[in-house]
Amino acid sequence: MELQLNLSSPQADAEKKVEKVLVLGAGPAGMSAALYAARAELNPLVLIGTELGGQASLTFTIENYPGFPDGVGGAELGELFKKQAERFGARFEYDMATEVDFSRRPFAVKTYGKTILAETVIISTGAAPNHLNIPGENTLIGRGVSYCATCDGWFFKEKKLAVIGGGDSALEEALFLTRYASSVTIIHRRDELRAGAILQRRAKENPKISFVWNTVAEEIIGENGVEGLKLRNMVTGEKSTFAADGVFIFVGHTPNTQLFKGQLEMDDKGYIKTDLTMTTNIPGVYAAGEVMDSHYRQVVTSAGMGAAAAIQAGRFMEEHSLEQAVAEK
Ligand code: NAP
Repeated sequence: MELQLNLSSPQADAEKKVEKVLVLGAGPAGMSAALYAARAELNPLVLIGTELGGQASLTFTIENYPGFPDGVGGAELGELFKKQAERFGARFEYDMATEVDFSRRPFAVKTYGKTILAETVIISTGAAPNHLNIPGENTLIGRGVSYCATCDGWFFKEKKLAVIGGGDSALEEALFLTRYASSVTIIHRRDELRAGAILQRRAKENPKISFVWNTVAEEIIGENGVEGLKLRNMVTGEKSTFAADGVFIFVGHTPNTQLFKGQLEMDDKGYIKTDLTMTTNIPGVYAAGEVMDSHYRQVVTSAGMGAAAAIQAGRFMEEHSLEQAVAEK
């Protein structure tokens, strides 16, 4: 494999500081990997990336993370995770990986500011919300098109909103938007929701929420801000226009794995493949949370996977010393 980073020999690099555990991303998986690695006295370095706390930090209240019977704010939970990991020696930097070289140990990760060498790397870069890729969507982002109710809901006091999607995110965010909006219409492409039972019941009981079934949005219309949507009924083919002041889109996610293409094995949707120990196809490189899990995608499962990855990284270093790896080159 061709090396992506312009590095000197592994031996020379090894003379520089080599991190024992480098964690990429600071969502629930990365934070708990940092906590576990720190408590194992591995002094982990965490590159926070774009969002401290990851996507979970954008959730207003997390009601299903154990230990918080009254729920906990997403951003608050992120801060608590960080504080707990720092207490045991984890270090956090506001930087992100721009290139990686996993072809030899120590692994090399280039950031905006430097190149970091590491004995083990835990990838917890999460996932990003999908776009619909319909006309009007990109041009009206920030002017009525949004992917985050917690971030933008406040701007829509007494406004008429549309929410696209039928999963947990769509319903949870629609419910949150009813705090501000005069009405929230959930537009779903089927006549059955994907979301779990509790959210379905809450949404159906909420007087501000209504549903448009078997319908897709084909265009978002508006000049300087969203004015409405062009819709098509999937069953009858009938087209219509729906007036709305804002559109919130929750149609799934894509893992943030572009950086690792060609080096790590992934499934056809780009999720990193791991075994049960969170190990990727490269021993010493682990993946945890939404970057490899398209299935559960819960704060608690991501946190558990992060902890497992850190435990495994520790075991790996006990069994495969870096000195040995460099000597074998
Ligand atoms: P999701 O479960 O994948 O749901 C995506 C929704 O968008 C589906 O209803 C899907 O329709 C629809 N969709 C996808 N592509 C579309 C398109 N091009 N046009 C129109 N509609 C489209 O994603 P999610 O809701 O973000 O949830 C992701 C994961 O996080 C899930 O595992 C979920 O359980 C979890 N989550 C949990 C909570 C919670 O427990 N409180 C909260 C948020 C998320 P179809 O149904 O027809 O496929």
